[in-house]
Amino acid sequence: MRIITHTCSNCKTVIAGNVLEAKRVMECPGVECETVIRFDDLQVEDKEYFIKNKQDYEIN
Ligand SMILES: [Zn+2]
Repeated sequence: MRIITHTCSNCKTVIAGNVLEAKRVMECPGVECETVIRFDDLQVEDKEYFIKNKQDYEIN
């Protein structure tokens, strides 16, 4: 399975795509960074990958 990540445009902190997929909207975890990151910020192909492979990412 692919590893999908999103890089904050402000502070370059890398956020795991599966965390973003679960939360949908989150504040950047970077130190002193308040950028709001949305699942929709992922590239289209990455979003499609999550939608197609959603069951593989569900954490119990
Ligand atoms: Zn950030």
